[in-house]
Amino acid sequence: MIQFDVVTIFPEIFKGFVSESLLARGQKKKIIKISLHDLRKWTTDKHKTVDDKPYGGGVGMVMKIEPIFKAVKELNQESRIKNQGKKTRVVLFSPRGKKFNQEMAKKWTKLDQLIFVCGRYEGVDERVADYIADEVISVGDYVLNGGEVAAMAVIESVSRMVPGFIAKKESAQKSDHAQYTRPEVFIVGKKRLKVPKVLLSGDHKKIEEWRKKHL
Ligand code: SAM
Repeated sequence: MIQFDVVTIFPEIFKGFVSESLLARGQKKKIIKISLHDLRKWTTDKHKTVDDKPYGGGVGMVMKIEPIFKAVKELNQESRIKNQGKKTRVVLFSPRGKKFNQEMAKKWTKLDQLIFVCGRYEGVDERVADYIADEVISVGDYVLNGGEVAAMAVIESVSRMVPGFIAKKESAQKSDHAQYTRPEVFIVGKKRLKVPKVLLSGDHKKIEEWRKKHL
């Protein structure tokens, strides 16, 4: 089983995401476990402060290192005490990070635990990237409001690669080629949108060749 620990100031964002469809089934089958942690739990002041003004000036706020350090320490240790020798990776999300891809998703299924740190505001104190995170990951060349959507994308793609997460009948067919389903002809005004004939031919060799050309 792979354990995802998500550290965020907005755990509510994940509620529907983790309790629907394949992720819900994967957790029920104990193939994956997703735990959501409110970063504010690791603050000490009465306002539960997780951000502060940037050194050197500038607009916006920066997420502080202290609560993140404490959160990662506790989540990491917790798992090590319970299950010695666990393979854990701490991931910080940042648009300046290494681009996430399918190969990484596959590699990470070999881990026991992934701790995700979701940034917000103008970003995260750089010492988190330098001293706390094992990986700094971007999900694409665009800027999101926070790391939560990035974490969701990574949770889904890693989970899909965990054996047993997707039922055999669902995974048997690789769907990285163009796909069609009924009706054979979809009529829009004067246009007739047809399914390529070869896919209706029943000729499996030809269908395979067509699919290779339409990846
Ligand atoms: N100027 C900031 C920077 O370049 O890091 C943008 C911060 S963004 C508004 C807030 C947070 O969203 C980031 O700290 C990061 O955790 C997350 N984020 C935004 N875009 C992302 C991306 N493409 N991939 C991964 N995380 C992203």
